[in-house]
Amino acid sequence: MSVHPFWLAGRPATGDETITVTHPYDGRVVGTAAVATPAQVAEAVAAAHAVRAEAAALPLHVRAEALAQVSRRLAERAEEIARLITGENGKPLLWARGEVARAVSTFRFAAEETRRWSGETQRLDTEPAAAGRLAYVSRVPRGPVLAITPFNFPLNLTAHKVAPAIAVGAPVVVKPAPATPLSALLLGELLAETDLPAGMFSVLPVPNDRAAALTEDPRLPVVSFTGSGPVGWMIRDAVPRKHVTLELGGNAAVVVCADADLDRAAGRIALFSNYQAGQSCIAVQRVYVERAGYETFLPKLVGAVEALVTGDPWDETTQVGPMISEDAAERVAAWVKEAVAGGATVRTGGTRDGATFAPTVLTEVPEGALVECEEVFGPVMIVSPVDGLDDAFGRVNASRYGLQAGVFTRSLDVAFRANRELEVGGVVIGDVPSYRADQMPYGGVKESGVGREGLRSAMFDFTAEKVLILTDL
Ligand code: NAD
Repeated sequence: MSVHPFWLAGRPATGDETITVTHPYDGRVVGTAAVATPAQVAEAVAAAHAVRAEAAALPLHVRAEALAQVSRRLAERAEEIARLITGENGKPLLWARGEVARAVSTFRFAAEETRRWSGETQRLDTEPAAAGRLAYVSRVPRGPVLAITPFNFPLNLTAHKVAPAIAVGAPVVVKPAPATPLSALLLGELLAETDLPAGMFSVLPVPNDRAAALTEDPRLPVVSFTGSGPVGWMIRDAVPRKHVTLELGGNAAVVVCADADLDRAAGRIALFSNYQAGQSCIAVQRVYVERAGYETFLPKLVGAVEALVTGDPWDETTQVGPMISEDAAERVAAWVKEAVAGGATVRTGGTRDGATFAPTVLTEVPEGALVECEEVFGPVMIVSPVDGLDDAFGRVNASRYGLQAGVFTRSLDVAFRANRELEVGGVVIGDVPSYRADQMPYGGVKESGVGREGLRSAMFDFTAEKVLILTDL
């Protein structure tokens, strides 16, 4: 099996070590990725630093065309890339194809936003002392971006950092998750086909214990991190002078009001608690149902969960595949066991087969159980009746996290109230909290992170305002 090279300042390279990538469903080897040596890591950082002025001065049409080209190439190679994602991550082809389609859009949105990227003029003659002065306010890159990405959307979450960096003219160094480096390396290949300056991007799948060489290097002043809370906050604390964006985890909640279409709510919640085997930061974990609808809703939900097709991710019909590893599935099993020991009822699921954990619905979960308070990041949801909106929204907000929340309701009043009261980065009315469009602002409050992604939001995040004052004396 050939070794996938990493990308060092735009060129393919190999080091003296490799990472073996295995398929979570059956453990077979699906690829081998070259790992950069410390000297090569230093070379990539130096190249990003050296090219920063050239990158910032790149005409918008050059950046936009490079981004559009990557979008087209992703579309042309979509099926091959989807299979690469299924191989390294284990997500069913259904979802891998969806991820590639999203990455195609992410790069296309970036190309479109690049052509709209502009500054603004501000008249300063609002005061006599500033008469004759005009300010031109532009946004300039804060500097080269270090993009650290997780395993669960290995292509599109990398795209969410690389595309806006290129759009604003910032060099970018990508550090993908060691379990799933192959799709980020393939993205490197597509970037290498463009006319971007060579030093503008590197993709370095280095082991975590060597990542400090990247996170702590002052020549990478922007860190855009997506991953777990403990790692994210640790990085932010270690480099307080850097501009750090954290897209972290959560225990997303949904409220089902008694007036909602309960069949639709049950179907959507069943699917989006379990898609990607629950390994999405906005997978439905906590379900709060108005008491008047609870007894009708619960069997519908359990039925919808039991109807999901679980199994081999290569099967075209599979909706729920394996988790990233047997260890991850074993952790989820332990958390379910803890809840059951405290009095929880397993309505369906609760079993493990290798890395695959059966889609699980728990009720009567004791207060403080891990499956309620922590991020399960597995195919498990807890369902509880609630007494009215005060109770429902109070339960949603009684979390350390706040990424997105969903409310199934037909009432506009409830929608506005949810938007006012829910302590999250995004409120989804009429659907699950798992809904994300790639161009919209996206991110969390509380322990779910700081900063926002989404093309335009990330472009703002990677840049700072700079003022040119023109004097007409
Ligand atoms: P993780 O925190 O284990 O790893 C994320 C990245 O950080 C990987 O590239 C990893 O190699 C790297 N890393 C680990 N230790 C590091 C260190 N000491 N220095 C520098 N980098 C280091 O997370 P994961 O298991 O890959 O992903 C799952 C987590 O990501 C979940 O908590 C999930 O909710 C979160 N997530 C959040 C979002 C979001 O947009 N908010 C999206 C997807 C996933």
